[in-house]
Amino acid sequence: MTLERELTIAKQAVERACKLCATAQPNLASSETHSKEDKSPVTVADYGAQALVLKSLWDAFPDDPAVGEEDTDDLGNPENELLLSRIVDQFQKIDPSMDKAEILSSISRGGAQGGPSGRFWTLDPIDGTKGFLRGDQYAVALALIIDGNVALGVLGCPNLPIGDEKGCLLFAAKGQGAFQSPLSDLSQQAEIRTDSIVDPSQAVFCESVEPGHTLHDQSAKIASLLGSLSEPFRMDSQCKYAAVSRGQASIYLRLPTRPGYEEKIWDHAAGVAILEEAGGRVCDTFGKPLDFSLGRTLRENKGVVATSAGVFDAVTKAVVDSI
Ligand code: AMP
Ligand code: MG
Repeated sequence: MTLERELTIAKQAVERACKLCATAQPNLASSETHSKEDKSPVTVADYGAQALVLKSLWDAFPDDPAVGEEDTDDLGNPENELLLSRIVDQFQKIDPSMDKAEILSSISRGGAQGGPSGRFWTLDPIDGTKGFLRGDQYAVALALIIDGNVALGVLGCPNLPIGDEKGCLLFAAKGQGAFQSPLSDLSQQAEIRTDSIVDPSQAVFCESVEPGHTLHDQSAKIASLLGSLSEPFRMDSQCKYAAVSRGQASIYLRLPTRPGYEEKIWDHAAGVAILEEAGGRVCDTFGKPLDFSLGRTLRENKGVVATSAGVFDAVTKAVVDSI
C-alpha cells in the first residue's frame, strides 16, 4: 500500500493549518484563548487548525473517522460567543468559503473513538499549545492508523529551523522512509535519518519544557547513569520526535509525572511514524511497544522512550531500572 494520495492530502492539510497557526501566533488576544475543563489552554488557532485539517480529510476520504484533540462542547456556551467569532475570523483568513456552522461541524468530526480495526486519522491541531502561547515550538500533528498500527505521519513545525529558514514539514509512510521539506516549498524534500551513535555517553537528550509533562529530575539521573555529559535540551511538542529523527538529539524521554495520566494517541502517532522510518525506535517506560489500538489514549503504556537505534537497548534498560 503506497498511501500516496493520503500523504499528498495530509501534507497539504497540515501546511494550510500551519499557515493559520503562524498567522495567529504573534497577535493572540486574551479573547482568543480559553482554558479547557482540564485547565489546559486552547486557542482560536487550535480550533481553526482542527477545522481546516478535518475538512480536507472529509472531502477526500468521507468514510474515514478522525480522532482529534478538540471538541465543540465549550463553544456553545454564551460566555464563549466572542471566542467563537474570533475562531471564525481567523479561519476565514485562510479559507473564506466556510461559514460558522460548517467550521463547527468540521471540528466536531474529531470525536471518533479509534480502536483496533479499520483505518482512522488522529490529529493534534496544535501540539504544544503552551509553547505556541510562549512564541516557542509547536506542531500540527496528523497520522493515519490502520488496524491499530501507525501507517503515515505528518508533522508541521512552523518555528523549527530547516537550513537557513524557519518552518518545516516532516512526513513518513510505512516502509517508504522519512523526509522533510521547508514549509515554504513542499516540492523540495530531503530524506532524514537518526544519528548512528552507539555509545550512550555521547547521546544528546531532549524533553518537554513543562515539568508537569515529564520528570526532569529523573531524566537527569538517567542521563548521568548513562554517562551523558551534555545538558538535555527542552522543547515543546512533537518537535522532539523531529529532533531525534533528524539526528539533532539521540534520546527523547517522557517520564510520567502522575500515576493516572494516559498519553493521548494524537501526541505521539505522527512523531512515531516519522521516527521509526528515520531509523529510530520507540517504547514506553516499561520497555513495551506503544499500543495505538485501544482508543483515544495509550492506556496500556506509561510514558515514552524514543531514541536512535544504536542506543535504544541501553537507554531502555536504564529507564526500566530507574522506575
Ligand atoms: P509537550 O509539549 O511535549 O510537553 O507535550 C504537550 C502535550 O502534553 C499536550 O498536548 C498534552 O496532551 C500533554 N499532556 C498534558 N498533561 C500531561 C501530563 N500530565 N503528562 C504528560 N503529558 C501531558
Ligand atoms: Mg498535544
